[in-house]
Amino acid sequence: MSHSAFAYVDGVLHAEGVSAVTLAERFGTPLFVYSRAALTHAYQAYAQACAGHRASVHVAVKANSNLAVLNVFARLGAGFDIVSSGELARVLAAGGQAKDIVFSGVGKSAAEMREALDAGVKCFNVESIPELDRLNAIAGECGKKAPISLRVNPDVDPKTHPYISTGLKANKFGIAFDEARSAYRAAAAFEHLEVFGIDCHIGSQITEIAPYLDALDKLLDLVEQIESDGIAIRHIDVGGGLGITYSEETPPDTGVFVRTLLERIAARGHGHREVYFEPGRSVTGNAGILLTRIEFLKPGAEKNFAIVDAAMNDLARPAMYQAYHAIDAVAPRQDTPTVYDVVGPVCESGDWLGRDRALAVKPGDLLAIRSAGAYAFAMSSNYNTRPRAAEVMVDGDRVHLVRARETVRELFAGESILPA
Ligand SMILES: *Cc1c(COP(=O)(O)O)cnc(C)c1O
Repeated sequence: MSHSAFAYVDGVLHAEGVSAVTLAERFGTPLFVYSRAALTHAYQAYAQACAGHRASVHVAVKANSNLAVLNVFARLGAGFDIVSSGELARVLAAGGQAKDIVFSGVGKSAAEMREALDAGVKCFNVESIPELDRLNAIAGECGKKAPISLRVNPDVDPKTHPYISTGLKANKFGIAFDEARSAYRAAAAFEHLEVFGIDCHIGSQITEIAPYLDALDKLLDLVEQIESDGIAIRHIDVGGGLGITYSEETPPDTGVFVRTLLERIAARGHGHREVYFEPGRSVTGNAGILLTRIEFLKPGAEKNFAIVDAAMNDLARPAMYQAYHAIDAVAPRQDTPTVYDVVGPVCESGDWLGRDRALAVKPGDLLAIRSAGAYAFAMSSNYNTRPRAAEVMVDGDRVHLVRARETVRELFAGESILPA
């Protein structure tokens, strides 16, 4: 669906109305290309399913924190889910408002709490008792009452990659389900905290609704217990995590997903509460591609390699999670395809972007790595002193450079050699 923003016209891949060949020539490679229409479409699927309900969308900034991307969402009226004061600064710089921000994360520093309190964020999603203590102390110093929600770990298995499942007992995230009720009593007793809601986030790239409903049912049980203790819960934050199609996955449609959760909440008699969704990957993932140029084709005894100018520093997901990204020639040739491992120039065997891909290409050809809108640029690094790629946003026939390619000078601008 959102892939339609990236389609072939006369044998050449386009981003909306602009040829990927033109983009690569104009801005160089590797190049991240985002589609404003695809971002908008993916966000609106949530917003439209929420319309008419007391439900709102808080886009998870960590999936793609480019200012222009955040600005597209801010203009559509999105709230944001942040995990650092750096992300707070980005949201504000992108036109978002503090009153629409929820602040997640297991390790908020005192300085981050102060900044978020000063800015006036909507809610702190607190993940532990020591964090409650710290937040209470900081709020007291600031002469404020901190709005809080407790992130509860519902202990459900989202059946995703172990590195991106977060709602199991063994994970570092959230307050254990069995301890949550007493944690709420403790939270309510703090002078400088005010309980607003409850939240959970069970993982990422989840392709079934069932684990969400399991988590939701446990959360609603808990809400009933907490309220019987005299503590009001105004909102239920169900987190993010909805998966996307990288290859064969068939995640639920966003509208179906949202409506199913809202219906369950209403059916259980909680329809008067506000509901927050925190999507990241599902609103940005398929709204971006990474363009890369083939440097060399290297035939081998066991494998053929297509060595490209993008690498694990640009797109870490294959190296980190053995993640699959579809890879297509930007202008496929008519020749018989050869099977290649698509690899980067970084000095690590883990530096691969795709394995066993049939491609009809020659050196100098462009490849498009799909689904590169989420956890792609945001996770990129300067390993091997490689400047990070440029990012552009296509909007119809127009192209905006939304992050300039880094220069090598910038990479060591903050470094110095020892004194004489
Ligand atoms: C990462 C994260 C999200 C977004 O997850 P996606 O899988 O990208 O939708 C939402 N909420 C919290 C608390 C997160 O840590």
